[in-house]
Amino acid sequence: MSSTRIPQEVFDQVLSKTSIVDIVGEYVKLTKAGRNYKGLCPFHGENTPSFVVSPDKGIYKCFGCGMGGNAISFVSQLEAISFPQALARLATRAGIHLENLPVEAGAPKPDSPMQKAYEVLEFSQGFFHYFLRHAKEAEQAREYLLGRGLTDEVIQTFQIGLAPNHNDALAKTIAQNELPLEMGVATGLLNEHNGRHYDRFKSRIMFPIKDPNGKTVGFSGRAFLEGDDGMGKYINSPETELFVKNKLIYNFHEARLAIRRQNRVLLFEGFLDVIAAVKAGFLESVATMGTALTENHVSLLRRVTDQVIICYDGDKAGNIAANKAIALLTAKQFKVNVVDFPQGMDPDDYIKAHGEEAFGQLVSQAVPAVDYQYRYEKRQLNLEFITHQEQFKHQVFALAKTLETATLQELLLKKLAADIQVNEASILKEFQNANPKMYKNASFNNNKNEILSVQPQTLGNSRFEKAEKMLIYYMLKDRAVALKVDKELNGSFHNPIRRNIAQYILDYYTTQESINLEYFLMWLDEEMVKTVTDILFECESLPEIPADGVIEDYISNVKKYVYKVRSEQLKRQLAVAATDEEKMELLGKLNQLKQQSDR
Ligand SMILES: [Zn+2]
Repeated sequence: MSSTRIPQEVFDQVLSKTSIVDIVGEYVKLTKAGRNYKGLCPFHGENTPSFVVSPDKGIYKCFGCGMGGNAISFVSQLEAISFPQALARLATRAGIHLENLPVEAGAPKPDSPMQKAYEVLEFSQGFFHYFLRHAKEAEQAREYLLGRGLTDEVIQTFQIGLAPNHNDALAKTIAQNELPLEMGVATGLLNEHNGRHYDRFKSRIMFPIKDPNGKTVGFSGRAFLEGDDGMGKYINSPETELFVKNKLIYNFHEARLAIRRQNRVLLFEGFLDVIAAVKAGFLESVATMGTALTENHVSLLRRVTDQVIICYDGDKAGNIAANKAIALLTAKQFKVNVVDFPQGMDPDDYIKAHGEEAFGQLVSQAVPAVDYQYRYEKRQLNLEFITHQEQFKHQVFALAKTLETATLQELLLKKLAADIQVNEASILKEFQNANPKMYKNASFNNNKNEILSVQPQTLGNSRFEKAEKMLIYYMLKDRAVALKVDKELNGSFHNPIRRNIAQYILDYYTTQESINLEYFLMWLDEEMVKTVTDILFECESLPEIPADGVIEDYISNVKKYVYKVRSEQLKRQLAVAATDEEKMELLGKLNQLKQQSDR
């Protein structure tokens, strides 16, 4: 969202007609508490309300998980849609027509081809669904689904349907309802031959596939009659402008709020698995569309959570897919756990065979990705053999390289040492020799780095913390304060997030005299928004205009602290400096620092 710079007039126009209390109130039950409103946070599960909405400031803030922002970011975060899309949605809600809104994909214009395509897809979904539930010819399909545990309730929840066993049942119905047949072709529901239209899906159970906004964009049709899967068990809609498999996640739109609330997503391979899991009460379940996980999928999931539980099939293909997914997910800083299903079982089978409770237990016992990979590699080999031991060692070294901290690496290597019955120290040393750069910071490598890594935060810093926060607060209120802080501190806030925020404030003042807070928040990333909204509430009771000398005091506190931290850092480095050259350089820096702070 930080890169999207929507013109301020557009933004003002929408926000002036939007009440944040109304918007949030559509998702969260709010009760008045003084000047603010309180409720249960929709972004994390909680039983006592720590979620606050301030109509005066036009922002919300959760003191449990830290989430905060304005009405647009609320809709964007909760609905997992982009910032411009959220803005467009609020504009429509407020009855504002935005001429030149830079929206990549807002609501399609009425009568546009895209709107017609959505209509045809929606209509067809209704047609298939009605046919499955009411047609006499659909009896066999209904029995089949019931036999697989898909009750009428499930059929309705997931809008499952049946494509009739006719050449042109859908085509005729589309024509009778005066919908454009060419859109039936464009959306992959119909084929055209010599000017006549035919149904693409025949005698298949139809699972509608929706985009992240909840609009149907295609179908997956499953064969259900004995010997009827000559064309494959599943036929999907062909790739169209709307139906892009490597971007679509099954059940994402329906699951998004549950994913937010639980801060985790259960990721499956097949949509029958998702349906079974949702039926078992795991509403945060999704699946990719019969393809491997892609970066597009990962980005979409990242909008709503940072924890994934992989629930792939318990077979070789499932294991390989899980390993690939782990690599993609950990690269995007997801915390990944894997459910280990018994050999040969997919999640749907497992739930049917062992029940929902047993499935829940398995999910709660999901193993961290690295342990899963370790176990997987180990299972492929026979560690009685020396050659296999050697091979295993290399695989575990490769795995260790992907780990973030030296401690995790060390734990993994110790496990390896035990499993191949080699002395721990020699395994650690071998890994260290093979990866000299990476191992520099390891705890058992030497104690030099350990001394250097003492966190300055432990030095007693409440006055300094307060000073930096107050400065940000008054910089937001007053351009003159911002410029003064810039001149005096020259960007040397100690905390990196606050340092970034200060830079954004100064950028803002290069073109504006005062800060429109709700607009300003759009520039920032989530972490910065959390910090700003924190500060805003923390400083709520401060006077609008600071007393004389207060700003100067804050500046001097920050200066002193930054000096103290830097000089202590330099002194520690000096204590362990190996060469005279290094020492001289550090002394020079220390001197320079002292001069700067005396100025
Ligand atoms: Zn929260």
